[in-house]
Amino acid sequence: NGQAPAELLSANNITALFDSVDAFLFDCDGVIWKGDKLIDGVRQTLDVLRSKGKKLIFVTNNSRRSRRQYAHKFHSLGVSVSEDEIFSSSFAAAMYLKVNNFPQENKVYVIGGEGILEELRQAGYTGLGGPVGAVVVGLDPHINYYKLHGEMGVEPGHGFSILLSNEKDFLKSVWTNSDKRYNRYGTLCIRENPGCLFIATNRDAVGHLTDLQEWPGAGCMVAAMCASTEKEPIVVGKPSTFMMEILSKKFQIASSRMCMVGDRLDTDILFGQNAGCKTLLVLSGVTTQSTLQDPSNNIQPDYYTNQVSDILELLGQ
Ligand code: PLP
Ligand code: CA
Repeated sequence: NGQAPAELLSANNITALFDSVDAFLFDCDGVIWKGDKLIDGVRQTLDVLRSKGKKLIFVTNNSRRSRRQYAHKFHSLGVSVSEDEIFSSSFAAAMYLKVNNFPQENKVYVIGGEGILEELRQAGYTGLGGPVGAVVVGLDPHINYYKLHGEMGVEPGHGFSILLSNEKDFLKSVWTNSDKRYNRYGTLCIRENPGCLFIATNRDAVGHLTDLQEWPGAGCMVAAMCASTEKEPIVVGKPSTFMMEILSKKFQIASSRMCMVGDRLDTDILFGQNAGCKTLLVLSGVTTQSTLQDPSNNIQPDYYTNQVSDILELLGQ
């Protein structure tokens, strides 16, 4: 498609890249960590980049945690990162509602985890006690048929999400309740109310819960909702540039002065390209060199290298 093949990052080209940017945007899984394990040399590399005056920003599609919970994860891995340097797709979902002036009286139905719920609460949104104006879909390890349909009889201690301790009663209540108001959730909400927002945190096919195995990602929950609603979601995670809009405003740095570092071509690298950043692919995550160089791949980053710590080595640190 005319994109020049990625250049291997080297001692010759790294200075040009380094001097042309003020901020490094790091994807997290496959770049900073793999599941619950920090990737070798990351801590030292981030320290050196900071000491050279680069702004560091972390952009993850994984919606399972809030920014607060990610700051805690960084801390527990021995890396000092503050909450306001973290842009997770959970936060992006809440920010999307906020910047679009979604009214706080309208409720948000979530198929997803605690990270999304926490960010929504912080932005002033709740899930109970009124008509649903938006459905947010992210990674939900407890997804099932009834959740896709919608939520009935939510237990207050369980946030927005139904816990199916009692599927039989739930089903009975759906089938015996002819009052349509009670059925306007989940799939039905989106199908029957043209004004209801359908927001997806991200569409990643897979992710890592631990360093070894790949697990189904939010893309599979989103695909289920797309199938039943016959609608397409607004995606707030990468490769959508929504997170770039909020972060470049916040830090007052032009995206052309940023380098996006990621391990996935169709989320991270595409995000960087869509936003006008320099792009660096690392091979420490889901993409192999043969995938990058396969003729069927039409996403070429500016540069590629094995892992983040190569930056240190190439800078002669
Ligand atoms: N979604 C889920 C559920 C994940 O587990 C992961 C990675 O572990 C991702 C998305 C991708 O996250 P990132 O954007 O940090 O690579
Ligand atoms: Ca990644």
